[in-house]
Amino acid sequence: MFSTIRPKTRLVGPVLVPVLLSVGLVLCVGAADRPDETELQVGFARVKITPEAPIRMAGYASRNKPSEGVLADLYAKAMAIADGRGERAVLITADVIGFNAAVADAICGRIMEKTTLQRRQILLNASHTHTGPVIGLPGATSYGLEGEAAARVHRYGLKLAGQLADLAVAALADLRPSKVSWGVGWADFVMNRREFTDRGVRLGFNPRGYVDRSVPVMRVDSPDGKLRGLMFGCACHNTTLTGKHYQLSADYAGFAQAYIEERLPGVQAMFMAGCGGSANPHPRGTVEAVEQHGRSLGAEVCRVAAEALSPVRGPLRVELKLVDLPLAPVPPREQLEEMIEGPSYIAFNARKMLAALDKNESLPTEYAAPFAVWQFGGDLTLVALPGEVVNEYVPLLESVLGHRKLWIAAYANDCFGYLPTARVLAEGGYETRCLYTATGFFAPEVEGVVLAEVRQMAEKVGRSLLD
Ligand SMILES: [Zn+2]
Repeated sequence: MFSTIRPKTRLVGPVLVPVLLSVGLVLCVGAADRPDETELQVGFARVKITPEAPIRMAGYASRNKPSEGVLADLYAKAMAIADGRGERAVLITADVIGFNAAVADAICGRIMEKTTLQRRQILLNASHTHTGPVIGLPGATSYGLEGEAAARVHRYGLKLAGQLADLAVAALADLRPSKVSWGVGWADFVMNRREFTDRGVRLGFNPRGYVDRSVPVMRVDSPDGKLRGLMFGCACHNTTLTGKHYQLSADYAGFAQAYIEERLPGVQAMFMAGCGGSANPHPRGTVEAVEQHGRSLGAEVCRVAAEALSPVRGPLRVELKLVDLPLAPVPPREQLEEMIEGPSYIAFNARKMLAALDKNESLPTEYAAPFAVWQFGGDLTLVALPGEVVNEYVPLLESVLGHRKLWIAAYANDCFGYLPTARVLAEGGYETRCLYTATGFFAPEVEGVVLAEVRQMAEKVGRSLLD
């Protein structure tokens, strides 16, 4: 049918073309000319985001002075993806502690102003480095910063928002036909940090605790087979360096990216944080350890990339949904007063709750968090969860989504605090501190809500749940 129509359409004059177009584009275009919806175009861009002057650092409350020099530069990197139908999306990964809702809104607002992207087509992922700057904007002071320390953080945040908008524009301008594939390796330094002691669960070392040691790797080649980019993940806190370290760096994720880019000149390496809420690198505490973890992860990514990988094709379908996560009822005043005497991470929320009660303010019963799912044809589902998601969610999500063709990321779009499972909530420990950019502890029902919503989103974008 198309072969007979094609020559005719070529012969018709310009007056007839619009008529035929209105009848239906499919009549005018031969099968060979139709865009192949499985084909992907990919674009890359990068920008150095190392603060130029000493700045207060994020991640450890114990630090009491600004950064002192640079151990390794910080970067933000973007990967734009377009499919044959014209769907587009941009992933931005950055060596920062996290993007809270206000910061993510500001960044995405700037990106939407400068491009035709909608919010659902933008995915922000923070590496959660604990040797990077505090990320904040005017009006949202964190870490109790005031005066020049706060002003410096706000200037950095405003500049970063502009840089990330330009980064998205640059990645979209770099879109070109690409061959995408993926595979999975593993990381040996990922350690469950929820240590069970006679005084409850503390931050420590739990070699029998669950961790997701997978290292998903996405490889992007030009059609002639030239490697252009490697995006990889790891479900572990970027906390090899501790509160005593005052030199800026992107921890193991930065050293891994640098390792790959040194060995493969011209290739852009990108790190996407996984569900590492309950995992720390092991060992930790020294520059030698961070270099070692970076080398070992970088080498593993290179090893996986050199193997026979599975193809990743379009069509690309992206979803973003604000999900209302249920919060536990506010405890009675007497209990809150007891909680203030307990661990500081629990006292943090209890103190805010008491202050609200004192002012007769009502506290929210839910926290609305953005969940993202990107589906690549029948080849791969990328789930990008918000917050510091504990590793224990990985097997739960596999149980509702299937085990294969699945990449689970976290620290995406809104880093509001920890997202624990019902079991972790019952066991206690640091990860039960829950919200820190808002007020509240999650209810145990949060687990069921997360699993049901992600499953529904995955189904909507076309994941086959039998995989
Ligand atoms: Zn954390």
